[in-house]
Amino acid sequence: MSFTPSVSQEKLVEYRRAFHQHAESGLSEFWTTAYLAKELAAAGFDVKVGHEIFDVSKRMGLPDEATQQARLEAALAQGADPEWIARMDGITGLVVDLRPDLPMHTVLRFDIDAVDVDESAANEHLPAREGFRSINNCECHACAHDGHATIGLGTALEMLRYKDQLKHNVRIIFEPAEEGSRGAAPMVSAGVVEGAKYFFAAHIGVNAQQDHALVCGTQGFLATTKFDVEFFGRASHSGADPHEGKNSLLAAASATLNMHAIPRHGRGNTRVTVGRVESGTGRNVIPSYAKLCCETRGESTEINEYMFEKAKLIVEHSAGMYEQDYKITVMGKSDTAVSDWPMIELVKKVSEDVPYFHRDLLVEMGQGFGSDDANAFIQAIQKQGGYGTYAQIGSYLPVGHHNQRFDFNEDLLQPAVELCCRMAMAMDALD
Ligand SMILES: [Zn+2]
Ligand SMILES: [Zn+2]
Repeated sequence: MSFTPSVSQEKLVEYRRAFHQHAESGLSEFWTTAYLAKELAAAGFDVKVGHEIFDVSKRMGLPDEATQQARLEAALAQGADPEWIARMDGITGLVVDLRPDLPMHTVLRFDIDAVDVDESAANEHLPAREGFRSINNCECHACAHDGHATIGLGTALEMLRYKDQLKHNVRIIFEPAEEGSRGAAPMVSAGVVEGAKYFFAAHIGVNAQQDHALVCGTQGFLATTKFDVEFFGRASHSGADPHEGKNSLLAAASATLNMHAIPRHGRGNTRVTVGRVESGTGRNVIPSYAKLCCETRGESTEINEYMFEKAKLIVEHSAGMYEQDYKITVMGKSDTAVSDWPMIELVKKVSEDVPYFHRDLLVEMGQGFGSDDANAFIQAIQKQGGYGTYAQIGSYLPVGHHNQRFDFNEDLLQPAVELCCRMAMAMDALD
């Protein structure tokens, strides 16, 4: 396969900076989805959005109505196409097919959401210095998904030239809400990978933190459960009637400390974090409400389940100690998956034709960190007898993922597009 890029590196950088500047949190990627849909439709794709690609009955962790409305209005004010916004019907993410007339076969996935963190305005941070820092408060592309959206768009546009050579359909999925593990399950439930045999996804960075490096497959992702806990107590005067109050803040504090004290599991890695606590209204009022945003992780589904069950027990008994009613709401969930060796071999082989990737920096099976929602797609495809891999595209990173100053090397964009196109053609050639 000969590859002469038709989408220039300059154009890819322009796309990346546009996505970066319009960073949007999971399930609120209105501007991003409309932008992608418009570009892809203009190139001739029949773009699928809305209920057709996303089963809302499986949706978890949807921000509250006021937040969603404000984000939708912000997207429109920032120039999102109103026609596409209307067609999306409140659902973000999109799917395009290269050959919808042929059987389902190959899937490439790109995630498009931002992280809930306030982007640095410091001069040493390139997006701030070059004027493409996020214009949305506390929504920041601190996990390189702006790069992924760009690579996905570039790949779709480049692949149009190879359309007539395809033996099967190649589907490109732009997944919303990868952060918090909320986007894949509703898409799988809507059938977007039904019949698919081969799957490829890649993340910039992760454990490939050197320019020109490439990790062909991944193991060691953690299964995870994201959940909110609410405590409902009773307010009272802190001087006159503290004995009449039922203090939700104390229940939340007790639950927080004790969740972090769950015994480690002897059979594998575990994590637990209470990342956010809200409680109280005033200095002299016994707090009558508290909310915790939490997550557990484990090296296997069973080990994560162990963590989550212990966390639930602690919440129940913290509520008991402080006479609270309580509610636990699961906001997101993903399992672990291991890349398949035949796919790892394929990535290794096709990358030989992309000179950007250096042979001495190539790793066949790398370690994941944290979790990735791509696992839900990989598992679904593996269950129907197919194969998948999750690659890592190397970049020097000034700071770690989810940090306010996260950034990556834009030089990798065009080579990454080429890698994805070569993978799509190589997967298509398989039976
Ligand atoms: Zn992330
Ligand atoms: Zn990520």
